[in-house]
Amino acid sequence: MTDTMLAVRFEAWGERARLREVPIPEPGPDGVLLEVTAAGICHSDLHVEESPPGRLPFSLPFTLGHEVAGTVVAVGENADPGWIGRAVVVHGVWGCGSCRRCRAGRENYCLERPPAIGNGLGYDGGLAEFMVVPSTRYLVPADGLDPVQAAPLTDAALTAYHALKPFLPELDAESRVLVIGSGGLGHFAVQLLAQTAARIVVVDPKQAARELASELGAHETLPDLDAAARTATTPTSRFDAVFDFVAAESTMAAAVSLLAAGGSVRVVGGAGGVLPVGKDLGFAQGWSVSAPFWGPKPDLADVVALARDGRLHAHTETFPLADAIEAYDRLRSGEIRGRAVVIPATMTSGT
Ligand SMILES: [Zn+2]
Ligand SMILES: [Zn+2]
Repeated sequence: MTDTMLAVRFEAWGERARLREVPIPEPGPDGVLLEVTAAGICHSDLHVEESPPGRLPFSLPFTLGHEVAGTVVAVGENADPGWIGRAVVVHGVWGCGSCRRCRAGRENYCLERPPAIGNGLGYDGGLAEFMVVPSTRYLVPADGLDPVQAAPLTDAALTAYHALKPFLPELDAESRVLVIGSGGLGHFAVQLLAQTAARIVVVDPKQAARELASELGAHETLPDLDAAARTATTPTSRFDAVFDFVAAESTMAAAVSLLAAGGSVRVVGGAGGVLPVGKDLGFAQGWSVSAPFWGPKPDLADVVALARDGRLHAHTETFPLADAIEAYDRLRSGEIRGRAVVIPATMTSGT
């Protein structure tokens, strides 16, 4: 093993990440060293890159990559050596482990989190040949799963699942749900919704995304929210739930306006939209809006199990680590169908 590795480093606010040669990290006493087998790239990284200084609380530089699959190759002195050789995915939202949220298994809503969020979001992430995970409690076994399939489970699938989970048992054949944005997260949402009886309407301006959504079980795919509004002109044809995987100002306002009485909007995307909240805004009665964040580890275990059962499948485009910057460029220009996944080693996969 040489003592340096290739990594995608985010070094300055407002600038693109760069490929750099950096030292291979060593795990702390409770941590492990992963050899990264696949790492997804996410729209939220673009929002990080574009943020002005001071908006996000992260210290620079760090390695991007918050969707990580890998193999444990070394453990710290306090960590269980039984992890060595295991294929894992990383629960990437790192809580304190001891506050009342963390103790309830909801580390994504940690009350004591330091400014950094987790791997690739303030701490060094998985767009590298190796990555340190500071505690084995962030590891979920992923033996037997293709790493290219496993990596997107940790954010794209987990975040979609966490956003949808409270609604899934309620959806029946009379339910109407709207998915705004069928990219990395949305294409998992469509798969989860297709396992219910609900009628699924998907809005995405990109034709390739609409075609994929149709293949995955969407009943109706539309290019814009005006078209969705034309399907929702009566109290019963409005939507029981809207999952906004874009969350720009325009999509959020439309999402609430398209709700049926008692309906809910889940604000998931990171486009930075703002929505006035209050009564007497002309929306249907009993509307609610919530903004779930990523997902807890038990939900990650659920999506890993769903993937093992063949009930969730990541549609991916793969890139070698040397082409990671190009993968970001293609994501930025809307050319990725499903999820872009970077593989440090030379292998070919994807669907
Ligand atoms: Zn993400
Ligand atoms: Zn906590």
